[in-house]
Amino acid sequence: MMRDKKKEFILKGIPASPGIAIGKALLLDREQYVIPKRIIKEDQIQNEVKRFKDALIQTKNEILEIKKRISEEMGIEHGQIFSAHLLVIEDSMLIEEVITKLKKDKLSIEYVFQDVLKRYIKVFSEMDDEYLKERISDINDVGKRVLRNLIGAKEDIFSDLKEKVVVVAYDLSPSDTAMMHKKNLIGFATDIGSKTSHTAIMAKSLEIPAVVGLEIVTRGIESGDTLIIDGTHGVIIINPSPKTIKKYEIDRQRFATFEKHLLELKDLPCETLDGRKTILAANIEVPEDVPSVIAHGATGIGLYRTEYFYMNRKDLPGEDEQFKAYSAVAKKVRPHSVVIRTLDLGGDKFLSQFEVPHEMNPFLGWRAIRFCLARPDVFKTQLRAILRASLYGNLKVMYPMISGIEELRQANAILEDVKASLRKESVAFDEDIEVGAMIEVPSAALTSDILAREADFFSIGTNDLIQYSLAVDRVNEKIAYLYEPAHPAVLRLIKSVIDNGHKAGMWVGMCGEMAGDLNMVLILLGLGLDEFSTSPIAIPEIKRIIRSVTMSQAEAIAQEAITLPTGKEIDKFASQKLREILPEFDEHSE
Ligand code: PEP
Ligand code: MG
Repeated sequence: MMRDKKKEFILKGIPASPGIAIGKALLLDREQYVIPKRIIKEDQIQNEVKRFKDALIQTKNEILEIKKRISEEMGIEHGQIFSAHLLVIEDSMLIEEVITKLKKDKLSIEYVFQDVLKRYIKVFSEMDDEYLKERISDINDVGKRVLRNLIGAKEDIFSDLKEKVVVVAYDLSPSDTAMMHKKNLIGFATDIGSKTSHTAIMAKSLEIPAVVGLEIVTRGIESGDTLIIDGTHGVIIINPSPKTIKKYEIDRQRFATFEKHLLELKDLPCETLDGRKTILAANIEVPEDVPSVIAHGATGIGLYRTEYFYMNRKDLPGEDEQFKAYSAVAKKVRPHSVVIRTLDLGGDKFLSQFEVPHEMNPFLGWRAIRFCLARPDVFKTQLRAILRASLYGNLKVMYPMISGIEELRQANAILEDVKASLRKESVAFDEDIEVGAMIEVPSAALTSDILAREADFFSIGTNDLIQYSLAVDRVNEKIAYLYEPAHPAVLRLIKSVIDNGHKAGMWVGMCGEMAGDLNMVLILLGLGLDEFSTSPIAIPEIKRIIRSVTMSQAEAIAQEAITLPTGKEIDKFASQKLREILPEFDEHSE
């Protein structure tokens, strides 16, 4: 992205978490390294040169080592690829240029090195010569290695942030976002991702504005640039003018006042004008999210994503450790219920402790319940912890990614085993604990009448259900326009799950992001959804909508919506109805 560095610049992406943040950018490179732009003094130059040369030697040794190994294992011709890497690292022109620039600019060596590399890459990419163009990936690879050696191991880069920052990254993995709790972060902006990618979900639970799917944001920003993140509208402004900052500052305050006003609904019941009660629960990733759940007036937790427990650590969480966390959450939320979802590894959530082979289609691969059934040791430890914790509140167990009755039976059989051994050990637990299935695979939705015979409740996981039924990767920003919660196919599946659940006398909830999509609330309510579980920040507004309508109005809206032929028409219709019912529905709530 070429731009005048001083000029205000606007980029449009996908709104991922509402609100406005104004602050300095902290740019992470693709491997999540922060490239420090430190000003250095004259007497520090020698030290920076030494660090650079040490990093070059270390990198050269690494490349030689890899070259040797690959040559031995795969043949000399494969090893030769790394000769090109060695040429980059030994390029005296490049090294000279970095050192000259370091002396002239007096900035940290990492920053100068990266700057020179970027220039090389730009020059090479503009050349007609195919051979030279191919060298770009060598330069990139070597550059990354040198930076890694200069910066050191990736540590918890967020732990000692001195000032509030907006993180700008290619992507943020769930394990990165898991490190961000309670840190000085006020916003995210990422190149890739969509509304239901984990970066977006995490931003909402951290209650910070985020824009994802910006495609090129990391190329146009430097650490220290001033940024405005408008997470409500999916816009970011780089180096805003004082006038723009002033305007957004006013908007930011207005948004805060609006949120505060909504919180006044906190203690009011969630019921329609004619008294039909609905449960408004929250999704959490870590126990630290619970205060926000309570502050926003949620009555329960409809989805506790336990995989974050397993992240950023080398070992597996033991039974006692899990028991402590689950029982603490249960105690804080009781008498309301907490639905603990068993480990949902895979998809876009990988854990370093498990050797999961690289897959072509991880979302269709070895994930969630499939993994747990193959690793009963891991599964049983978690189930024991949940059962033991069930004495301390109102816990429910829920399995992710159930695709049919066989998996549900297998999971239930393991649960029964665990219960039997606890009984044998005279360890008490809630014998009536409810066990539910997430409905997030179309085959499960289509056989929900069968699943209903052997489950106590359903919770519809629309993030996955939509991606599987519409064949749209939920984290790919390029096809985000096809990811339509209002698509008639999705609504039909949801309707049949709710109907089948109700026929069997069970409650049906929804814990995917669609439950927090304000446009969809009236339709879902009208279809008979019993529980909405969403990020805490969406709860007050959903309550406001539900409290403004009668059940028969909502049913009529759902019935009409489901007859419309396209997602766009349904969305438009839903939005019109919402504005008829709540004329003051303003832009903050979009
Ligand atoms: C879902 O798929 O809708 C869901 C809630 O689970 P996750 O987003 O963790 O896959
Ligand atoms: Mg899911």
